[in-house]
Amino acid sequence: MAALASFLIMMEISRFVDMSVSVSIVALSVVNGLRYVLFCGLVWLAAYVFFRRRWLHRKILQVFPPASDVRREIKHSAVSLLIFSVIAALTLEAARRGWTQLYKQPDERGMVWFWASIVCTILIHDTWFYWTHRLMHHPRLFRLTHLTHHRSVNPTPWAAFAFSPLEAVVQGCIFPLAVMLVPMHPYAFGLFMSWQLAFNVMGHSGFEVFPRWMMKSWLGQVLSTPTHHVMHHEKMRGNYGLYFNMWDRLMKTNHQDYEARFTEVVSRSQQKNMN
Ligand SMILES: [Zn+2]
Ligand SMILES: [Zn+2]
Repeated sequence: MAALASFLIMMEISRFVDMSVSVSIVALSVVNGLRYVLFCGLVWLAAYVFFRRRWLHRKILQVFPPASDVRREIKHSAVSLLIFSVIAALTLEAARRGWTQLYKQPDERGMVWFWASIVCTILIHDTWFYWTHRLMHHPRLFRLTHLTHHRSVNPTPWAAFAFSPLEAVVQGCIFPLAVMLVPMHPYAFGLFMSWQLAFNVMGHSGFEVFPRWMMKSWLGQVLSTPTHHVMHHEKMRGNYGLYFNMWDRLMKTNHQDYEARFTEVVSRSQQKNMN
């Protein structure tokens, strides 16, 4: 339902191409804000309110963060969303001037390319995220760029965009980068945005959602899991990837206890928490 609502909201993005920069900043802020509240809010309500006890065995860290953490995450996310909207509005202005590869008709390059452009953007974003993330962990850059995000040692869904303004600029650059490199329609970018937000919120939810068998299958070798990212917040080192585990495996940056930790989390009994 959230994905459908988000898609319908993002359909509106194509109309922003013809707006002035200042109007599109306001419009994009509203759309981005609504989508963020929708995705994070639904996961928050389910995992931290309604099914808090029922799903507790899947809570990666077995304690809940204080309310002050959540307030801080929401405050930083609001600033990030504003920065993303400014970057997106400037990118749409660049599109108006013909500096990007955004195209107007969804069927202009056929439906195969429409979906392929989303896959390309996901792969580009995964690479962009891994390397900029590792760079921001450099001791000279960490405090200035990435410390804000790491103040969430026990993240909630609201930590997904809890960045410092500088990190928000780095993360927001995926929009201009993607549409400069990949010919794509705004709808395709809208779908990519829904995917990236859904995966990001899942990764910061604090709960493991994948089944036990996954780690022993090819899927576990390819996909990142919430345990992977929560361990990154907890340990501050290793597990730098976003969607996929390829860069971490290639660069040998997976935390040595990652697979054991995943197995421990998904092997817990639900019954113990229900008593
Ligand atoms: Zn980090
Ligand atoms: Zn994070």
